[in-house]
Amino acid sequence: MNNKYNTVVIGGGLAGLTSSYLLAKAGHDVLLVEKKQYPFHRVCGEYLSNEVRDFLERESLLPEQREFPTITSFLFSDTAGKSVTTALDLGGFGVSRYVLDDYIYHKVLEKGGAVQTGAQVDTVVFDKSENLFRIGLADGTQLTAFNVIGAFGKRSKLDKTLKRAFIEKRSPYIGVKYHIKTDFDRSTVALYNFKGGYCGLNTIEDGKVNLCYLGDRGQLREYGSIEAMEREVLWKNPALKPFFTDSDFLFDKPEVINEINFERKEPVDNHVLMAGDSAGLITPLCGNGMAMAIHAGKLAADAILKGKSRQEIEAQYEHSWRSLFERRLWLGRKVQRLFGSNQASVLTRMLIKHVPFISDQIIKNTHGKPF
Ligand SMILES: Cc1cc2nc3c(=O)[nH]c(=O)nc-3n(C[C@H](O)[C@H](O)[C@H](O)COP(=O)(O)OP(=O)(O)OC[C@H]3O[C@@H](n4cnc5c(N)ncnc54)[C@H](O)[C@@H]3O)c2cc1C
Repeated sequence: MNNKYNTVVIGGGLAGLTSSYLLAKAGHDVLLVEKKQYPFHRVCGEYLSNEVRDFLERESLLPEQREFPTITSFLFSDTAGKSVTTALDLGGFGVSRYVLDDYIYHKVLEKGGAVQTGAQVDTVVFDKSENLFRIGLADGTQLTAFNVIGAFGKRSKLDKTLKRAFIEKRSPYIGVKYHIKTDFDRSTVALYNFKGGYCGLNTIEDGKVNLCYLGDRGQLREYGSIEAMEREVLWKNPALKPFFTDSDFLFDKPEVINEINFERKEPVDNHVLMAGDSAGLITPLCGNGMAMAIHAGKLAADAILKGKSRQEIEAQYEHSWRSLFERRLWLGRKVQRLFGSNQASVLTRMLIKHVPFISDQIIKNTHGKPF
């Protein structure tokens, strides 16, 4: 491996893969470092908003031979299992990260991008006197780069190294995901509330259904295991229970993550261009973190390709990031309060049913426009 790059991208989720792909396509000298090996599963609802469809198709970043279910309606269930359905303005489609991330990874390689998988970045330090970054990998390899894109997701050891403020705050949320085979309408994305969280369902490729929920760490501690917590908490929603009792579960065990944090973060931190969740995670109920990660990856690549100096690159990225995402993240944090309690979920169901204008506005304002 060469040790000197123009740009090092840390983390190969959708943000890192998109920026690496666009930089490699432009003939830019880029290295992507990802700690896992593709393909792999991640905790994610895998509902992808149509705001990125044109971009993905234009760049040939969607597997052509596969069919992804088109999703046009949204079902909201309160904790008692009463539901309301509404049409989605823009809509989206279901695609697993196992398929999509792996596909874009191969596109990065095809465009001549360098990728180091199974490698973890431990340190990233900006050397002001040399005007470059020094990057240390866990195996002792030292790299230098003029630009660094931080696309290392919602929470990484690097947030501690970079002394980012949000990392000191504990979060009560955990995320759990399964792929299942069950009877579920292909054109719907559903959110089933339960006490302390909500569970999303939508179909993905090959007739599989993604079942993914945001739960409460305290409840997991109280009931001792994921299974017991699901039985005691999620199954209390009578409309959600049958998906657990009458489906074929396709994983040996669920994908689980904890410490899911929706705190504010900075898009440029220690001169690193933060893209995707490392710049801020939108609450999953908005269903567009994947689209935002793809779009932010594009913004970071555009800024690097266009900017003539570090100052210009950082200013352009920060400006475009803030104008596209800052308000959406803020609104996402506010809307999160409408979920996860009996009263709030009943109120939200009534709101969607009787004042659809307001729920339409919330959906519109937490989503972006096709680009
Ligand atoms: C419960 C839940 C449900 C969700 N459902 C949806 C949904 O239905 N639709 C939607 O659009 N969004 C959803 N999201 C949000 C979405 O998953 C994220 O916004 C999206 O994955 C962000 O992509 P990313 O590239 O920023 O980060 P990630 O996909 O998390 O990728 C980060 C990568 O960085 C790597 N990494 C981390 N640290 C290092 C290091 N030090 N060195 C090297 N590599 C490193 C990791 O291995 C990882 O591969 C959901 C989120 C949650 C929690």
